Amino acid sequence: MNTLSITVDIEDWYHIPSVTGSPFSVYKDVDEFFDKWNGRYDYLTEPTKRVLDMLDEFDVKATFFVVADVADHYPGLVESIAERGHEIGCHGLHHACKIDPKTKKPLMSVKDFEERTLKAKEMLERVCKQKVVGYRAPNALVGGWMLDSLEKIGFKYDSSISVNSLYNKTDSSLEGVSSYPYYPKKNGLEIGEEKGKKIVEFPWAYWNVFGFNFKIPTAGGPMLRFLGAHVVLKGLKQSLKRGHTIFYFHPIDISNEKFPVVGKGRPLYWVVKGNVVEKKIRYILKNLKDVNKVFLKDAAGEVL
Ligand SMILES: [Zn+2]
Repeated sequence: MNTLSITVDIEDWYHIPSVTGSPFSVYKDVDEFFDKWNGRYDYLTEPTKRVLDMLDEFDVKATFFVVADVADHYPGLVESIAERGHEIGCHGLHHACKIDPKTKKPLMSVKDFEERTLKAKEMLERVCKQKVVGYRAPNALVGGWMLDSLEKIGFKYDSSISVNSLYNKTDSSLEGVSSYPYYPKKNGLEIGEEKGKKIVEFPWAYWNVFGFNFKIPTAGGPMLRFLGAHVVLKGLKQSLKRGHTIFYFHPIDISNEKFPVVGKGRPLYWVVKGNVVEKKIRYILKNLKDVNKVFLKDAAGEVL
């Protein structure tokens, strides 16, 4: 069986697109949110500590994609993740959408993207004291041009793409892409010819329903909240047969607290969370305990 990377996205409730960082959010960005918000904001620290304990319990080292502004607003949190032996990757400066969720057109210039992302990379490197070489696009909205920029500013891999029959959050047809790592072509996300990029893409797991060629996204995240854990496990196991694959979740998904209600963009977003999601994560980790787990930074040099 191939290798698996467990990945965890570190963001809080106000990083979701209905609250900040998207064309339809209530606050333009996280800076404006902190200017105007007077209530409690930290719903992230408590579930992150539970995730760290759970990973220790299963003896798993994971790759954590951290929104860089978390280093500013949660003193000690990113440090504690790194100190427990996990890899730190970058999940954007403020978790803003880089391409429009509908049109897939860029929402910022290439120069802005490179400056902000390099700033985020350096902020994270300063606090975690390790080199940050991995990126995951906020809200998984990714364009081919972004990977060219990531390569230019020193990233070795990206893990944002989900090939499935329900949605495509990229600006590409994803022709030929599956659930195993590959080198995308220049200025695109399709599989590269000879002159592709050097940056590696780690796409997410999917379950190809036998006989229908219908691909259900099963890497985790929201689908972990909405689908049964056995469906997610089935997709992970099938993806493992194809090559290295990805499982991911958010600490805030296992929070049992009620988050502030801001904006109406996604009323169903937090319906399923807390203990029920934690149970699903435990079920997956338990059933995949014998699969060899690797950091993405190590996989980027080895699995192709
Ligand atoms: Zn995210």
